Amino acid sequence: MDLKDYESLLKKTENVLSKSNLNQQRLQIPDPDIMQEGKVTIVRNFMDIVEVVNRDPKHISKFLMTEFGIGVTINGKRLTINRKISADQISSKIKQYMDSYVTCYECNSPDTEIQKIGRTYVLACKACGAQHPIRIAADVKSDDSTIEEGKQYTVEITKIGNSGEGRAFYRGFNIFVPGVKKGETVRVSIKKLRNNTAIAEVIDREKDLNK
Ligand SMILES: [Zn+2]
Repeated sequence: MDLKDYESLLKKTENVLSKSNLNQQRLQIPDPDIMQEGKVTIVRNFMDIVEVVNRDPKHISKFLMTEFGIGVTINGKRLTINRKISADQISSKIKQYMDSYVTCYECNSPDTEIQKIGRTYVLACKACGAQHPIRIAADVKSDDSTIEEGKQYTVEITKIGNSGEGRAFYRGFNIFVPGVKKGETVRVSIKKLRNNTAIAEVIDREKDLNK
């Protein structure tokens, strides 16, 4: 192999490597920031999610409508769902949407677009060039048996502890939440987790929940 061949091979390899690195960058989909009002669920950061998913918001809302089997409407930056739906259920559906309409079936790159070829909609990948007819991915059930540090959950404060901190019991965990009242339902972010005990910080108070 002469030097020229070697150099061009090196270049090709570098290209492939940098591409595969790119593909490993998984998109960070924001956790749905939800609020429940009576029988409806409002996803307050719907447009932030749409921005990362990078598809037509109407296409995403239509998918959710079909999957949940209920009406959904886009109101500015928010999405209103006509039923009580948990943030985890929404996350799981967004993941399913990504697997169906965004993530390349071959290289997992999110740098794709939907194209219509003849009568067929295909997912065309800009990273690896693969083109595949759209198929709806299987529903991925979210793991709702545990909690994780850094994640957000909606919990009800059922008790006040000895130091005045609120306590919630959720998925088998004893969660300490400072600065809350008994009976309050709050959105919390888990700060520290050890064994079955967690310390959480209030992100949001869902005052309207119990109306
Ligand atoms: Zn690809």
